[in-house]
This record gives sequence, structure tokens and C-alpha cells, in this order.
Amino acid sequence: MDCLFCKIIKGEIPSKKVYEDDMVYAFYDISPAAPVHVLIIPKVHIPSANALSAENADVVSHIFVVAAKIAADLGIAEKGYRIVNNCGEDGGQTVGHLHFHLLGGRSLQWPPG
Ligand code: AMP
Ligand code: ZN
Repeated sequence: MDCLFCKIIKGEIPSKKVYEDDMVYAFYDISPAAPVHVLIIPKVHIPSANALSAENADVVSHIFVVAAKIAADLGIAEKGYRIVNNCGEDGGQTVGHLHFHLLGGRSLQWPPG
């Protein structure tokens, strides 16, 4: 399948790994929007949040557990951080493989643009 993030999981495209287990892979965003900007993705190809169902959504709770661990490991847990999923065109999704942004290390604005 011609999916950028599936290729990153397989090591066909290089990435800076932050964390990996049997369900998820986490790596630094190539174009960071904050001092800490990590992408956390399921190893199974799920195109977007629109494709989540009771059958495949367990990985999402796991991703939030992993995000909390990474935030602690990278020293942003105490001051806080943001976990973001962009879905579809209006949501600003540019890669068609479900991913969650973990952003921190600075004060983040609200609402997003
Ligand atoms: P989104 O716009 O929510 O779909 O997020 C896609 C993210 O993937 C963007 O923040 C990009 O900077 C990031 N990205 C694209 N290509 C790569 C890559 N090869 N390695 C790491 N991050 C990437
Ligand atoms: Zn994929």
C-alpha cells in the first residue's frame, strides 16, 4: 500500500523513533510545530478517525496511554501538552494514516486556526 506512515513503520522511510511496541509507533514530526512534536500512529493502517469502530478502536486508548508515558519521558507532563487528531480535509489531515500529534514544550494557543 502506498502509505507514507506504513512505510515509516516498516523502516522503508527513515524516522526518529521515540517509542514502539506491538500496537503503535511514535516518532518526531519532520516539521515540528512546538519544541516537542511527536506523532503516535497505530501499526495497523487506519485511514482516519472516520474509519474507527468498536472493532478497531482499542488502539486509540492505548495511544493515549503511550502519549502520557512519552510526555513524562520527555519532561512535558507537569506543564502540560496537547494531543491532536486532524481528520479529513477541513480538519487539516495531510497523511491518510490515523495519527495523533503530541505537542508541548511551550504555551499553546486556543482555539486553533
Ligand atoms: P496531519 O497534517 O495532521 O495529517 O499531520 C501530518 C504530519 O506528518 C505533519 O505534521 C507533517 O509534518 C508530518 N510528516 C510528514 N512527513 C513526515 C515524515 N517523513 N516524517 C515525520 N513526519 C512527517
Ligand atoms: Zn498506512
